[in-house]
Amino acid sequence: MHRKDDTVGKAILPSALRRVLGDKFVSESQIRTRMGKSKHLIRSVIDVLVSQRMFIPWIAVRCPACHYVWPYCKTEEEVEAEVFCPICNETTPTEFVEFYDVYEVIAWPD
Ligand SMILES: [Zn+2]
Repeated sequence: MHRKDDTVGKAILPSALRRVLGDKFVSESQIRTRMGKSKHLIRSVIDVLVSQRMFIPWIAVRCPACHYVWPYCKTEEEVEAEVFCPICNETTPTEFVEFYDVYEVIAWPD
């Protein structure tokens, strides 16, 4: 059911996050904006969508050197000690990198 996508792993400027990620990747706040539900309710909605494989959770990272954000990996176990930025080629220890929860959208609920 999960389709491999060419945009996965490519870098995205934070300012272009919504435009580039579009309907492919969304953050919790973008889901809330789109669905207009309370934070607590959105959390449960996301849990259901993830359990039904409509949303796939990803961890996105922001490079502290050039501020690019990109979907990085799917589980915390995959986070390595250092994050290599494909844009500026900077290698940063994980403790200096910001992490975000984002969701790959397989399907939006009706
Ligand atoms: Zn960078």
